Amino acid sequence: MYTDQELIDILSRLSSWLSLQRQLGVEAIARGHGVDTFLRSSGDRVSIKGSKMVEKQREGLGTPDGLKEVLDLLGDCKRCELYIERHHIIFGEGPEDARLLLLGEAPGREEDLQGRPFVGASGELLNKMLAAIDISREEVYITNIVKCRPPHNRTPRPEEISMCRPFLEHQLRIIDPPLILALGRVAAQSLLNTSSSLRSLRGRLHKLGNTRVVVTYHPSYLLRQRGDRQKELKREAWYDLQLLEREYSKYR
Ligand code: SF4
Repeated sequence: MYTDQELIDILSRLSSWLSLQRQLGVEAIARGHGVDTFLRSSGDRVSIKGSKMVEKQREGLGTPDGLKEVLDLLGDCKRCELYIERHHIIFGEGPEDARLLLLGEAPGREEDLQGRPFVGASGELLNKMLAAIDISREEVYITNIVKCRPPHNRTPRPEEISMCRPFLEHQLRIIDPPLILALGRVAAQSLLNTSSSLRSLRGRLHKLGNTRVVVTYHPSYLLRQRGDRQKELKREAWYDLQLLEREYSKYR
């Protein structure tokens, strides 16, 4: 058994080592038992596990062929309480054959008002992050884990994520992107079906069926930080973006 302090030391040393590997250009780490287990649990395509209720809802939605059909199924959705205060359902935008999909947590205030994902200050920062690695917003598909804004930008609840999940699954199945950038803890944990911390998920490639997943900070989170803390997190996000750029170059 380790004490808390020993565990913190081990994790700190491991984090430093992984950081060094990233700076040396290492894109993936050796597969251990845990990773093997994770890989075996993945299907050929992106698939997100859900509860029986979600399975039932998914079956009820059939198998739409295109995003327009998914949007039609969504309709004036009232499947969870997030419909009560929303102005718009923010389904997502971008080409149906995008090779890169950006996945956020939930629409914020500006998104809810304008009816588009990632606008306002976080959208501007996201555009800059993409431009820094020579990716235009027009070539990627952008969506969120839940399609309606949680009141006061609170974190979406598990039941809300579950109710909205079948629509995301249809989006992922139809677009079938080879690469996903998960923005923030909620998007990463929900997509990868894990409770691991964002810090531990960053900086390496995850495999989800045939899709690779890169995890980084949500732009809103970066904007909320100040001073040295913000600089440090932006530097870490830059490492993630470089990993994304290297991987994306295989699919463009
Ligand atoms: S968050 Fe999703 S499930 Fe909930 S009301 Fe909006 S579209 Fe429907």
